[in-house]
Amino acid sequence: MKEIYKSYLKDPNDAQFKKGMQQLRKRKKSLDKQFHEEHDRVFEEIDCLECANCCKTTGPLFTNQDISRISRKFKMKEEEFISEYLHLDEDNDYVLQSTPCRFLNEDNTCFIYDFRPNACREYPHTDRKNMYQIMNLTRKNASICPAVGRIVDKILESV
Ligand code: SF4
Ligand code: SF4
Repeated sequence: MKEIYKSYLKDPNDAQFKKGMQQLRKRKKSLDKQFHEEHDRVFEEIDCLECANCCKTTGPLFTNQDISRISRKFKMKEEEFISEYLHLDEDNDYVLQSTPCRFLNEDNTCFIYDFRPNACREYPHTDRKNMYQIMNLTRKNASICPAVGRIVDKILESV
């Protein structure tokens, strides 16, 4: 990851950062506009191909639809795909057996980009509705995704 991107990452347990995020939650629905505007601005500045930290360190949940779509593309049976790539976590969700994600190419592109899991499409969730409901998740994601750290910084600076 580029050095400048590393500098955008947050410590999710930092007291001041936590307090800032709690204050943002109080803005309820008016928070969406700020998040969505900063999301668009920040993703013009940050290039995921120079980062890939989400694919290297976390990885998505795989829904039944994801499993069915991806295994079909691989011409594998779903059970084969599961046993080769996935395992059930403590919440009974299918997740990667290991990270970095095995579908991450060396140049940080995704080998299954066109049919990747829905969670990968939606990450880092900074352009969704009712952002105030996911401030804890966003705080955690700010320690993984430099774009989230940058978006949150810009919103907090404008308070
Ligand atoms: S979504 Fe965030 S963590 Fe993932 S590659 Fe893009 S900037 Fe990096
Ligand atoms: S499936 Fe693709 S986008 Fe999703 S974590 Fe793996 S490499 Fe990243």
